[in-house]
Amino acid sequence: MNNDKLKSPIDRRDFIRRCGSLLAGGAALAAGGFLATKVKGKTGDVFWQIDPYKCTQCGRCETDCVLPISAVKCFHANRVCGYCDLCGGYYRPNVKDLNTAAENQLCPTGAISRKFVEEPYFEYTIDESLCTGCGKCVKGCTSFGNGSLFLQVQQDLCQQCNECAIARVCPSDAIHRVSYDDAYQLKDHA
Ligand code: SF4
Ligand code: SF4
Ligand code: SF4
Repeated sequence: MNNDKLKSPIDRRDFIRRCGSLLAGGAALAAGGFLATKVKGKTGDVFWQIDPYKCTQCGRCETDCVLPISAVKCFHANRVCGYCDLCGGYYRPNVKDLNTAAENQLCPTGAISRKFVEEPYFEYTIDESLCTGCGKCVKGCTSFGNGSLFLQVQQDLCQQCNECAIARVCPSDAIHRVSYDDAYQLKDHA
């Protein structure tokens, strides 16, 4: 899902401002605001967290969470995104037409939508309620794009199991317990 601070629909002026910050390399995310709105807890609490730079999108986050639908979701670092028309996280490889037909989309649940901003840019949004944490889009974006999509534990959903069932099987040792102040590790550079 998108960080509430990051996902607000962008108009042309805002888009150009964002591009400017991207070009300047200023891709810092508003993690503080995110924490305040998303994490129920207090200093001293601990949370399971994915290191997005270690995650290899193996698929176990979707299948091994104790919840019927994983607490791990796709997040989108809008300020890292290239707003690409040909988005490697949105489209299946080798699509012929860049349109929103279901058969062209990589996400198996249709959780990603795209909105035209201005030629040739598109904004991508994740519907958390549809995301199963499979990581397919993350792999596509990481392989062919800026790597702005990443998997993270949605702390509002996570049961904070004593031992995270995903962490036990993660082949990349990407999941660890962190303190409240670090409860969301966001991607702040591609
Ligand atoms: S189990 Fe580990 S490597 Fe696999 S998708 Fe989850 S965090 Fe990434
Ligand atoms: S491809 Fe998988 S991880 Fe990405 S939005 Fe769809 S369900 Fe979520
Ligand atoms: S701690 Fe439990 S609920 Fe949270 S992601 Fe791990 S297995 Fe799922």
